[in-house]
Amino acid sequence: MTVGILKEPQGENRVALLPETVSSIISSKINILVESGAGINSFAGDIDYEEAGALLLTREEVISKSDIVATIHAPGEADLERMKAGQVLIGVLNPLMDPMLVNRLKERNITSFSLDAIPRSTRAQKMDVLSSQATVAGYKAVLDAAGRFSRFIPMLMTAAGTIRPAKVLIIGAGVAGLQAIATARRLGAVVEAFDVRSAVREEVKSLGAGFVEVEGAQEDKAAKGYAIEQTEEFKEKQRQVVHDHAVKADIIICTAQIPGRKAPLILLKKTVDSMKEGSVVIDIAASTGGNCELTRNNEVIVHNRVTIVGNSNFTSEMPVDASAMYGKNLMNFLQLFISEEGELVLNFEDDIIRGSCITHNKEIPHQRVSEALKL
Ligand code: NAD
Repeated sequence: MTVGILKEPQGENRVALLPETVSSIISSKINILVESGAGINSFAGDIDYEEAGALLLTREEVISKSDIVATIHAPGEADLERMKAGQVLIGVLNPLMDPMLVNRLKERNITSFSLDAIPRSTRAQKMDVLSSQATVAGYKAVLDAAGRFSRFIPMLMTAAGTIRPAKVLIIGAGVAGLQAIATARRLGAVVEAFDVRSAVREEVKSLGAGFVEVEGAQEDKAAKGYAIEQTEEFKEKQRQVVHDHAVKADIIICTAQIPGRKAPLILLKKTVDSMKEGSVVIDIAASTGGNCELTRNNEVIVHNRVTIVGNSNFTSEMPVDASAMYGKNLMNFLQLFISEEGELVLNFEDDIIRGSCITHNKEIPHQRVSEALKL
């Protein structure tokens, strides 16, 4: 089986597979083709890939010679045109937010698998790119905030006086939020967090943060552990509670998301108006609308001397570890596609393969994506 790795688009420093992972894959009967220059922004040169056993080719050659094309971001239209019917594409295709792409994959008869659709089961944990990349994002978001903050984070008692610790509020305690809590705690901040899922209360507390309670949140077992859209009454109550905590915070990290939907609006402009001068808001939900009313995706704005960073791509700012983790997840996923003889097999009996397949045979087998497209 031959797997092709493409260079990611402009502005993305990660690569789907680093040389360190290439060598362990090749030993298990997979050939790896890599687009020349693919790893350059993750400090992996062509020579490193060659030494690991990969073949370096042009983008066109990689696409035409691979059974599976593996990326992080979905390839552009020109690449899709180059792909053959029945060829396999694996990446983070974000199918619920990008119906045009899904339609093009279907029309081109490309068999596509989206790593963000892999079921969050125990068996799939080692393939879970959402978790690995959210870990990077939560960590890096706190470091970015600390860099922009004009004061210390920890408490210091010095001959030049006592410095009070910074107060950090984390909105959304999923994978990114929990990592943000852990990072802020390591820096010595006093941390509070809140989430609509009551299940995270104990995890938040075990990391040494306070859990902000907002009573009346709706949860749905059918959402498989994810948050669901809340009632207007709850949202109003939540914004008031957030307001009361936000005005005391120095740093706010926004991570709240609802899969396939716009991010919940939690931090209103009037709250930012009342925040302390010099505070920093980092919104990693920016690409889906943001949790803060003032967030602009991929922009840093200053409002009333509060800095608001709209950045959903912190992973690209820590490309080496982010790529390493992504590559390990990808490698584990690829193992599901290889027969004992080293041939490509598509075993739709496997719940991970079935659950992550977006298009196959000019159809959309993924029920949620198919329903979203009809809407
Ligand atoms: P996510 O990125 O979809 O959302 C981030 C957080 O925002 C979530 O905790 C969510 O509850 C929260 N949120 C949504 N709306 C909110 C609101 N209005 N106010 C406050 N918070 C809000 O979540 P994620 O990090 O991908 O994790 C989602 C679920 O997946 C969790 O249950 C997690 O435990 C589970 N998970 C399972 C596995 C596994 O079993 N392999 C791995 C990772 C995560």
